[in-house]
Amino acid sequence: MEKILQVRDLHVSFSTYGGEVKAVRGVNFDLHKGETLAIVGESGCGKSVTSQTIMRLIPEPPGRITGGEIIFKNMDLIKMKETEIRKIRGANISMIFQDPMTALNPTITIGEQIMEGIRQHEKVSRDEAKRKAIEMLSLVGIPNPEIRLKQYPHQFSGGMRQRIVIAMALVCEPDVLIADEPTTALDVTIQAQILELFRDIQKKTGVSIILITHDLGVVAQVADRIAVMYAGKIVELGTRREIFYQPQHPYTRGLLQSVPRLDMKKGDLIPIPGTPPDLFSPPVGCAFAARCPYAMEVCDRVYPLKTYLSNHHQVDCWLQDERAKKLVSTY
Ligand code: SF4
Ligand code: MG
Repeated sequence: MEKILQVRDLHVSFSTYGGEVKAVRGVNFDLHKGETLAIVGESGCGKSVTSQTIMRLIPEPPGRITGGEIIFKNMDLIKMKETEIRKIRGANISMIFQDPMTALNPTITIGEQIMEGIRQHEKVSRDEAKRKAIEMLSLVGIPNPEIRLKQYPHQFSGGMRQRIVIAMALVCEPDVLIADEPTTALDVTIQAQILELFRDIQKKTGVSIILITHDLGVVAQVADRIAVMYAGKIVELGTRREIFYQPQHPYTRGLLQSVPRLDMKKGDLIPIPGTPPDLFSPPVGCAFAARCPYAMEVCDRVYPLKTYLSNHHQVDCWLQDERAKKLVSTY
């Protein structure tokens, strides 16, 4: 399958008064054309920082990309200057956030806002931009787009506003859409409609989606593959089936315990006893060891090697790894 984006050994830190927080600690994944990859985990696991780094939206400083590559169309996004990345943002890779109001200007009609987005990246006439804006609004299911174009954000419901934000994100036909908790602010019925819209748009446009969420119900509805993040690392990655039906990492199992089926409607992550480690000085071994019921001596000492369980399914856990025995004997 064609790889549209490759994230390689990404490290991101933030300097604070308390020291350097290592928020992302060696993240690797590929995004394939036309797929939805969900990144799940508790808040603070590094999933939002990872996605913001792809867009180069983390504030530098206090943020700092301390290592890795993000390859998009044979270019490393990390090495790009701000002027270059600005051309990519919106046109090739675009992003939508939890609260649609933060993306919309309350004092400008939505038509002007969408057209502005088009004309930032493409040299088109006003009429052409308007035609495209109307087309996008109907793509995202806004009725009477010619009339709605002239209205302001407050004249739309929350769900409709999120549709407008999605239209704005898609207007330049990006290859990649990053959606960070796109339905968290919406009620469950509207949420289901927006998720349906994502699927629909993906079918029509072939856009690749990275979906950041803490909600396993959302993941079950739309993800093709799932990356589970813990303490700045992807600890398990697999197809939706593999993660929901054959989870191997004790953390993934903990997350899924309350929501074992694909058909559940709402499945927020139930907290696992204990707290994630301090990322000022992350553990050298498995970061989940302090909370893991299966922890062995090796777990504290050495970070687990990646084990491949299928073409798609990989896990960082000593339980799955024959090599653990040998390592134990060397200590
Ligand atoms: Fe638990 Fe060890 Fe696996 Fe970490 S590596 S999840 S501590 S068994
Ligand atoms: Mg977040």
